Amino acid sequence: MAETLPHVVIVGGGFGGLSAARALAGAPVRITLVDRRNHHVFQPLLYQVATAGLAAPDIAAPIRHILRSQRNAAVILAEVTGFDLRRRKVTLADGELAYDFAVVAAGAGHSYFGHDEWGRHAPGLKTMEDAVEVRRRVLLAFEHAERQEDEALQREWLTFVVIGGGPTGVELAGALTEIARHTLRGEFRRINPRSARVILVEGADRVLPPYPKELSESARRQLERLGVEVRTGALVTGVDGGGVQLGDQRIAARTVLWAAGVAASPLGRMLGKCDRAGRLEVEPDLSVPGHPELFVAGDLAAVTQDGKAVPGVAPAAMQMGRHAAANIIRMLEGQPRRRFLYRDKGSLATIGRKAGVADIGGLRLSGLLAWLAWLAIHIFFLIGFRNRVVVMFEWALAYLTYARSARIVLGGNRVSGDPHE
Ligand SMILES: Cc1cc2nc3c(=O)[nH]c(=O)nc-3n(C[C@H](O)[C@H](O)[C@H](O)COP(=O)(O)OP(=O)(O)OC[C@H]3O[C@@H](n4cnc5c(N)ncnc54)[C@H](O)[C@@H]3O)c2cc1C
Repeated sequence: MAETLPHVVIVGGGFGGLSAARALAGAPVRITLVDRRNHHVFQPLLYQVATAGLAAPDIAAPIRHILRSQRNAAVILAEVTGFDLRRRKVTLADGELAYDFAVVAAGAGHSYFGHDEWGRHAPGLKTMEDAVEVRRRVLLAFEHAERQEDEALQREWLTFVVIGGGPTGVELAGALTEIARHTLRGEFRRINPRSARVILVEGADRVLPPYPKELSESARRQLERLGVEVRTGALVTGVDGGGVQLGDQRIAARTVLWAAGVAASPLGRMLGKCDRAGRLEVEPDLSVPGHPELFVAGDLAAVTQDGKAVPGVAPAAMQMGRHAAANIIRMLEGQPRRRFLYRDKGSLATIGRKAGVADIGGLRLSGLLAWLAWLAIHIFFLIGFRNRVVVMFEWALAYLTYARSARIVLGGNRVSGDPHE
């Protein structure tokens, strides 16, 4: 790469960062993409890794491999710790990178609404490490129940609480009932996995709150048909190793999973004014106020359109990444930057086998059709030919046999709530 070309630093190899890098493929720039992980994760399928339906490499790919054919892009594995906006430098844990332009797409993590101590007992689902930890806890819960003499404790190990009734919580709850009712059938001698309780707790008055009301109601019915106990309007006031507190009501459970709050990367607060979720309030063209050479994309950007916040979803991140790249090209050509316009392609959530809801351009689907649409779209957008083939094979097998082929426990046999811990 010619050292004289303008240098674009992209922070994050997620949906936003990768889309920006690809959109700059033919541009007269040299790109350095920085990520603290060596892989891109297809987050919409993380819950499948967490519930042992897919293995980690099926939904991830090395960022370096994804960009291998793009000659103007280099990838470095490093943690970004800050910015020197005046000197146009990105600060790394072990160095710094000067830029002419930058796109920051560092995504989001969990928020425990000011109760970070809950995190130890209720892991969330944002990274591959999280998914492997959730899988470990779910599989171990059945193992602990099998060895438990005390009936009350056995029930606690067989009670799973999912906090948060958005798409991730709904998907997790549906998959957990499938594991309990079908996948583990006949494998245990003392417990009946079918007797496991899966409880989905949502603070709002319905699951999937951003969806049209009729689809939320349909999702609830489909969840209940699968065997999930749905509790809406229920605010969590405590989480510990023995269960969940909902006001004065207690649910004794040894496995609690967090699918509720989201907080943007702390890098946002280093760039300027943020909203309550830590997302940076960007200019309409996605640049950082006062810094036209610096753009923010994806879950880290707070963008409002028609009075509503642009949602933290993969299509929005991809559109923003491409838009930031297009604005960089326009600046290089001496043209004015353009404002970002989000094109909403609709929402989809799966609930379990042949169950789901979809709202695509006003077309509202439930059940089998929504589930089929979900399968097709997720296969289409998965990165990598190998991943698509493997995932299609795994799903076909799972459909025919209820098998979950990634039932591997890694990282020891103890979990929080374990009396031996
Ligand atoms: C469990 C789950 C399910 C989801 N399901 C759906 C769905 O069904 N449909 C949908 O459209 N969206 C879904 N989403 C949301 C979607 O995945 C996000 O909106 C999207 O990933 C945002 O893209 P991004 O590029 O902003 O961030 P990300 O994709 O999160 O990428 C951020 C990248 O930045 C890197 N990074 C972060 N901090 C640093 C740092 N300090 N230094 C270096 N690198 C850093 C990270 O390692 C990561 O690779 C889901 C999200 C989750 C967690």
